[in-house]
Amino acid sequence: MKKFICYYCHRSISFDKKIRSKNDKAIPLNLDGTKHDCPSSPYNKKAAATL
Ligand SMILES: [Zn+2]
Repeated sequence: MKKFICYYCHRSISFDKKIRSKNDKAIPLNLDGTKHDCPSSPYNKKAAATL
């Protein structure tokens, strides 16, 4: 599995071609295989702000 660094939180992540979101985009995964729910992504920050 190829490793990447998360652009937002700078942690090591990877992608799995088989694991895709509803709109058929590869989603970032943590190295243990779980979904990388990035705490530093603008999307999550925005979602948190609307709570
Ligand atoms: Zn991240």
